[in-house]
Amino acid sequence: MALGAKRDLAMPHLEVPDVRWIDWDALHAAGFRAIVFDKDNTLTIPYERRIHPPLASALRECKRAFGAANVAVLSNSAGLTQARSDSHWSPYDRVRDALGVGFLRHSSKKPGGSCDALVRRFACEPSQMVMIGDRYMTDVVYGNRHGMLTIRCAPFTDAVRDCSPYDPVRDVNAVS
Ligand SMILES: [Mg+2]
Repeated sequence: MALGAKRDLAMPHLEVPDVRWIDWDALHAAGFRAIVFDKDNTLTIPYERRIHPPLASALRECKRAFGAANVAVLSNSAGLTQARSDSHWSPYDRVRDALGVGFLRHSSKKPGGSCDALVRRFACEPSQMVMIGDRYMTDVVYGNRHGMLTIRCAPFTDAVRDCSPYDPVRDVNAVS
């Protein structure tokens, strides 16, 4: 996505070292009602299913403050509808169960796509949502495009595979 004069879309409202630094109660008290996480390098090591262990308590605290139904993952490596073509094998469900957080099914990679599914799921305005992720050009731009509060966390791994071009076949294999 070419930003051009809209390059401010790549600037997050807040930056933190990782999600442990986020005050969930303060966000809720400020009027935010839903949390949308990126997955890779935000909650998990890229392409792994389980939460990065040091972040487990932060995710629990997030769900306590907002309610688990108001927390979801929007990931380019899990949740894409094209990655679920085999009905006998669902990496999407496995990742969801491992994290204990619902996934937003989507057909467009961030930063593209609408936020209609988020509005339907959370029954609140995008301005009441918080988008949290490690990538300026995907997570932050997506959240800012739709008027969400955006929080950028630093990636906790520089694994080479996370820097590779998107390959849904690789992704499917990685989460099996
Ligand atoms: Mg990421």
